[in-house]
Amino acid sequence: MGNGIVCESVTKEFKGDGIGTKALDGVDLTFHDGEFVSIVGTSGSGKSTLLSLIGTLDAPTSGTVMIGEKDVRKMKKNDLADFRFETIGFIFQQFHLLPTLTSLENVMAPLFSRKVSYNKKEKAMAVLEKVGLKDKVNSLPSQLSGGQQQRVAIARALIHEPKWLLADEPTGNLDSETGEVIFETLSALNRETGCGVIFVTHDPALAAKADRIIEMKDARVISDRAGMAL
Ligand code: ADP
Ligand code: MG
Repeated sequence: MGNGIVCESVTKEFKGDGIGTKALDGVDLTFHDGEFVSIVGTSGSGKSTLLSLIGTLDAPTSGTVMIGEKDVRKMKKNDLADFRFETIGFIFQQFHLLPTLTSLENVMAPLFSRKVSYNKKEKAMAVLEKVGLKDKVNSLPSQLSGGQQQRVAIARALIHEPKWLLADEPTGNLDSETGEVIFETLSALNRETGCGVIFVTHDPALAAKADRIIEMKDARVISDRAGMAL
């Protein structure tokens, strides 16, 4: 599967009581396979909405989102769930780990009731090692620091080797030093595995280190430029 992610004239409206909100207003963007892209912009500018459309969690009101030449809106619900599982890994500001499960169990959780061609436990061990948590596989989230919890969440997102990692302010709950470690973890994964990363952040210093920086304001893209990594 190639040819990246293409958003064409993407609009998203939320209809509340009476007045609607345009969260995205005519967004045209292409994300190339393997790219590390930062998205910055003030709160409410549409960053999370864009990520949820790219992640196929929601559909645009108008316009198209194509992932690897597939039009997301034309897929059946079950096919879409499989496609999402195979293609996309999500990371959020809140780590969303299950508190009663160990790191290993949290990482294996997305595979529950799924048939896969590999040994689930071995694979989970391997991705935990990849994010530097080999010695924490049996720890509960409460026994881990915030940065370590986020690395478990990254390992969980990686379990099925997604083509894209979508990270919505993954460093938002972490101090800047730990945020840097998380950024470097994602950056290393991007280089080593070739997975594309779309990284939403409030931190301009982190954003600048990507291949490319997209800035949003009032539901539109207002700038799209090369970052320091290029
Ligand atoms: P950001 O992530 O940049 O802070 P969001 O994408 O979360 O921005 O939100 C963009 C706009 O869309 C905001 O005005 C927000 O209130 C609105 N919005 C987002 N999600 C919903 C929703 N599920 N229902 C109604 N309005 C929403
Ligand atoms: Mg947001």
